[in-house]
Amino acid sequence: MPGTLFVVTAPSGAGKTTLVRGLLQRDERVQLSISYTTRPPRPGEEDGREYHFVDIPTFRTLRDRGEFLEWAEVHGNYYATSKVWLKEQIAAGRDTLLEIDWQGAQQVRKVFPDAVGVFILPPSLEELERRLRGRNTDSDDVINRRLLAARGEMRHVSEFDYVIINNELQIALEDLVAVVRAARLRYGTQHARLPHYFDFLEQD
Ligand code: 5GP
Repeated sequence: MPGTLFVVTAPSGAGKTTLVRGLLQRDERVQLSISYTTRPPRPGEEDGREYHFVDIPTFRTLRDRGEFLEWAEVHGNYYATSKVWLKEQIAAGRDTLLEIDWQGAQQVRKVFPDAVGVFILPPSLEELERRLRGRNTDSDDVINRRLLAARGEMRHVSEFDYVIINNELQIALEDLVAVVRAARLRYGTQHARLPHYFDFLEQD
């Protein structure tokens, strides 16, 4: 039975990474896809853990070889999801989560129409700015660019199946856990995983 693919998108600063980490701790059956990026690692980030960090020529070679399911330029850097790895994981029945931007989400939907799209909204643009400045890992210039990009990203919210408003972290985390749980209860998934419960359908 194939695994469920989750696509989680949010403007930076909305708390996506914290929420996804919380979900992974709560639910051992969900794994995270590690993207490729040309962005330099932030302090504390490790190659192969947060991202596969590659230079631009390597990224282009991989892309031109067709290794990516989707790729996009976000805030001046390239990001991509590995195609072979993800297809193997889904085929092997492993629920997998992608933390990608709206451009990537659009491309993924074309290949995996059953993917469950989740958009995380900040409570307001003012709160988003406060969170981005408090993070202190990026320069002013980068923060300003990300704020501008956030509005553009948020305009794509209607393309997603679920919307989580990250006002209070614990509630937002419960919401994300609930989405994953509900996705596993979809007819196709239940029927494939527990076929004997559906034997009655054959009985008359
Ligand atoms: P950050 O550099 O802050 O880790 O991520 C910046 C943005 O890139 C986020 O919106 C994140 O969702 C997006 N992103 C990360 N990995 C991928 C990916 O593999 N594909 C796409 N399309 N976007 C990604």
